[in-house]
Amino acid sequence: MRTSSRLHAAPARLFGAALPLALSLAGGAAAQHPDLPPGVVRCATPARDARQLPDAPGDCSNGFTNPLPAYAPSFVYRIPVVFHVIERTSGTGHLTLAQIQSQIDILNEDFRAKPGSRGAPGREAMIEFYLATTDPEGNPTTGVTYSVNNTWFNDGGSYYNTLAWNTNRYLNIYTNSGGGALGYTPALPASGIAGSRADRVVVLWSTVGRNGAFGPPFNLGRTVTHEVGHWLGLWHTFDGGCGSATSCYSTGDLVCDTDREQTAHFGCSNSSTCGDPDPIHNYMNYTDDACMWEFTDEQVRRMRCTLQYWRPQAWTTCNAATVASRNAGLNPDVYAAALPRIGEQLTATVDLRGSGYESALVFGFSGSGQQALGSGYVALFDLASPLVLSLPAAAGPIAQFSFPVPNAMALCGLTIYTQAAELGGASGFALTNAQDLTFGR
Ligand SMILES: [Zn+2]
Repeated sequence: MRTSSRLHAAPARLFGAALPLALSLAGGAAAQHPDLPPGVVRCATPARDARQLPDAPGDCSNGFTNPLPAYAPSFVYRIPVVFHVIERTSGTGHLTLAQIQSQIDILNEDFRAKPGSRGAPGREAMIEFYLATTDPEGNPTTGVTYSVNNTWFNDGGSYYNTLAWNTNRYLNIYTNSGGGALGYTPALPASGIAGSRADRVVVLWSTVGRNGAFGPPFNLGRTVTHEVGHWLGLWHTFDGGCGSATSCYSTGDLVCDTDREQTAHFGCSNSSTCGDPDPIHNYMNYTDDACMWEFTDEQVRRMRCTLQYWRPQAWTTCNAATVASRNAGLNPDVYAAALPRIGEQLTATVDLRGSGYESALVFGFSGSGQQALGSGYVALFDLASPLVLSLPAAAGPIAQFSFPVPNAMALCGLTIYTQAAELGGASGFALTNAQDLTFGR
């Protein structure tokens, strides 16, 4: 395993700026594509070089692949997708729901090598995509948002800070001008971008879906297939050039079973840049949509590893978070918690109705019960259960506090019982209602 920096929690601003066009030349494909307008490149995802630091260690880091049999397809990952359609005020950039659904269909044809589809000759990766049916708030959705903003259409203005849905849970795909490329992802997941607001796929709107408005040779939806390959941790087949045949898990594109390639290949003709045939049918090359139809076995394992390591919330089943309030009808103070969502901030408010209080505590219990405390007060917890939280409330009759819920899927479905107490003051001791917090999405 390569020595790697531990600094994988990169600041979001590292990926925050719109990509300068110069970055697009880093992919080993400086040549102008004959079918693209001047200045427009095929893909602006940064190349595998120093710009991809920091890196995090693991079986699918930015510099190493360990294609263990455990990553071979044995079950289907299902990933919710949100398309953020950004249009110009002129109306340019509009995509219908049907056109977007056709792109989802193409992703599934390609990642599942569906018989009878253009993706049939490829490998069955057992990775599936669907338009999100619930938004981050739990409300029903089409999985598509529409915005009109000329700056955003030109890929400027950090639109993702406004538009992104929880990037741990959704694949966020933005359609706009592409910022001078057919598409890009700002960085691979091991760089620390996973879960940040900037975590995204961006594509030129006209390449989306079946018979996209761009026209041949980029009208079969493979731009999105290619960029989602990056989102799942794949490099270009030509990244790192020919690489070393004896250390192909740490050179070139970090997998051994892709044919080696020195530079990007356009069109559909056969070529040989490293002494053997170039991988012209691989989705991670630059060839025309019509001749792309495969990931290799080891690319599939690297993508599945990426889902395990970097995107566990994107596919794990986890129900919506809930809050239920209980009160024995006797406790005067009020305690209200927001939905306890995994990986997000949880805020709670304690409204102390008593006077002259000195402090308040919020605590949580893993059991449920009821205990008479005298003076008319009833605690709604199980005294035998362990204390989970102990948070002092700030001064003031209404105190709000906030703390992060760990980004741990193991919390999914766990319920803790919480309650706040006022200590001291005129009443000496008073309790709030209880809140039953069930962790989820
Ligand atoms: Zn690319």
